[in-house]
Amino acid sequence: MIRSMPARIPDSLQKKISQRLSFYDDLGVRLFYKDRGAGICLTASPAAESFATSVSQKISEEDAALPKSTRKPELPKSASRFVPPLAAAPQAARKPDILPVSTGPSLFEAFDKVPDDSLLKIRTDLGECTRCKLHKTRNKIVFGDGSANAQLVFVGEGPGHDEDLQGLPFVGRAGKLLTQMIEAMGLQRQDVYICNVVKCRPPENRLPEKDEVTPCSPFLLRQLDAINPKVIVALGACAAQTLLETTRGISQFRGQWLEFRGRKLMATYHPAYLLRNPSAKSEVWKDLQKVMAVLGLEAKKGKSAEAGKSS
Ligand code: URA
Repeated sequence: MIRSMPARIPDSLQKKISQRLSFYDDLGVRLFYKDRGAGICLTASPAAESFATSVSQKISEEDAALPKSTRKPELPKSASRFVPPLAAAPQAARKPDILPVSTGPSLFEAFDKVPDDSLLKIRTDLGECTRCKLHKTRNKIVFGDGSANAQLVFVGEGPGHDEDLQGLPFVGRAGKLLTQMIEAMGLQRQDVYICNVVKCRPPENRLPEKDEVTPCSPFLLRQLDAINPKVIVALGACAAQTLLETTRGISQFRGQWLEFRGRKLMATYHPAYLLRNPSAKSEVWKDLQKVMAVLGLEAKKGKSAEAGKSS
C-alpha cells in the first residue's frame, strides 16, 4: 500500500507558529506546549496537519483582519468592556455600537496573570530584546518608569529620540507636557507609572508596526498586571487601539470609561498631539478630571494646572 508523504509545514507558517509560541512564552503560558523545547517537527502528523491548517487559517484570518498595530479582538459579544461613565447618562441611553471592541476572545483577555510577577522579573525576561526589528536601530530599551505601586499608569506609543537616548519614557517635549499634566492632577511623576506600547524607538518616530507591537505586548500586559493600577490612561490612538484591540478612531471613545482586564481605562489624546493642537488640551483636561475623580485627587492650583487647560 502506498502511503502519501505527510505534508511539510511551510516555512512561513512555521515562523508564524514559532512567533505565536514565543508570544505565549512571554505571557508565561507554557504548559500546553511543553514539548516545544524539542523544536517544531518538520513533518506533520495528521493531527499536527489539522492543527497547522487551523492555526494557519486563524493566523491568515487575523492578518487579514488586523489593523497596522493591533491584534484581532475576539471577545464574545456579551463581554463588553465598556464601563459607563461615573456620573453620566443612564446606561439605557448608551448605544451599544459605540463600543470600540469587536467579537471573540482576545489574547489580552485570554491569559491569567503570571504568578508572583514583578517589574524586575519582567525586565529580566525582556533582556536585551531582539524579538523585533526595532532592536537594530534603538540605542536604549525604554522599559518604563515610576512607581511599582502606582494607582495610575500612562501608556504611550513608543520612545522618541530623547527617550531612546536616555532609556526613559516621555522625557522629550511631549514628556514635559505629560509631566505638567500629571502635576496639574496633583501628582508627581514618581507617583505614577509611565510606559509605552513598544519599548524601542521606531525609526523616524513612525507608528509601531504589528510585528513590533505583537512581541512587545506581553511585556506591557505583564507590567500592567504587576502594577495593578486602578486606572490606565492610554495616551493617543496607538496605545488606545492596542489595549482595546480596536481599529476605531480614538475620538470615537476618548473620554469614556472603558475596561481593560478588569481595570478602568481612559483613552485621551497624546501629548504630542496637544503640542500640535493646543486647543485640544481642554478635552484632555476633562478626561483627566474624570480620572482624578476616580482616584480622589484634587487639581493642583496655580501654574501647572494651566497645562491641562486650553492655551
Ligand atoms: N511619545 C511616546 O508615546 N512615548 C514616549 O515615551 C515619548 C513620546
